[in-house]
Amino acid sequence: MARLAWLGLGAMGTPMARRLIEAGHELTVWNRSPGKTEAFRELASIAQNPAEAARDSEAAITMLATPEAVDEVVLGSDGVLEGLGGSGTLIDMSTVGPDYVVGLREGLPDAVDLVDAPVLGSVSNAGDGSLKVFIGGSDETFARWSEVLAPVGKPMHMGPLGSGQAMKLVANSALAGLMSLTGETLALADALGLAEASAIAGLLESPLGPAMKRKIDKIESGEFTASFKLELMLKDMRLVDEHASKRSVELKLLPGAGQWIARAYDRGFGGYDYSSVVAEIRGREATG
Ligand code: NAP
Repeated sequence: MARLAWLGLGAMGTPMARRLIEAGHELTVWNRSPGKTEAFRELASIAQNPAEAARDSEAAITMLATPEAVDEVVLGSDGVLEGLGGSGTLIDMSTVGPDYVVGLREGLPDAVDLVDAPVLGSVSNAGDGSLKVFIGGSDETFARWSEVLAPVGKPMHMGPLGSGQAMKLVANSALAGLMSLTGETLALADALGLAEASAIAGLLESPLGPAMKRKIDKIESGEFTASFKLELMLKDMRLVDEHASKRSVELKLLPGAGQWIARAYDRGFGGYDYSSVVAEIRGREATG
């Protein structure tokens, strides 16, 4: 069993940290808003800052919203790097993109091993340990850390550092694309005069069915309580745009999906589930 620092107790970080504790790992947790550490009072040590959490840990694990947040928590004053004291392991599970991870590597001492391990799946998968963990790093790194991370989900070795993040962007672009397609096909059905129940029943039988099914309650009710916040999906689609244009990949569908998500964000849906993009495309109201 490993001694781990856990940084970030958001919607995903909280159940993931719990899974690791239940599996027998010894955790010291930290979160920017200290209130979220209360639930861990009986389960883990609580640190006052990231450096204190990381000190004496075998690995410090970050599960944070954005690249800027990882910068602050890892490189800032009283940050993880300070606590690691020049050597150790940093595992970043946030979705931040491969270019960020490769840049972060350049700023770390050689004796600090960096592993990217973003996850696919949502809050319910985090709760029951059925996430997919996309790991980037050497074979030895994968062998060492996949066992530790297995309680949160299925570890998959994607290749060298950054490959986990690359896979995560690819996977999330599929999710964003499918959800925007759901919105556009329903908008077309609305315009063609189909009753909503009929359109949904028909689409559930189409290749779009499995993607739609996961969010069907939200789409039908207009109540988009966040499982994965639209503002985080917007961050991911911006990362997709940046990474694709840097590599001169010609994309047409994914930028379109990103534009719909940006419009839903401008409409005030940022804190709702990303599937609220369907309401935006259909010109409907949404609540969260
Ligand atoms: P969340 O609920 O919004 O939690 C974000 C976490 O980041 C919180 O602990 C927050 O602290 C912290 N944070 C944000 N800005 C910070 C800063 N500047 N300094 C320090 N801490 C900061 O997000 P989430 O849903 O758990 O997602 C976490 C990551 O996993 C994201 O990269 C997301 O894209 C990815 N992801 C999410 C899902 C999902 O379904 N939700 C699925 C797969 C991957 P506070 O509590 O103080 O705000």
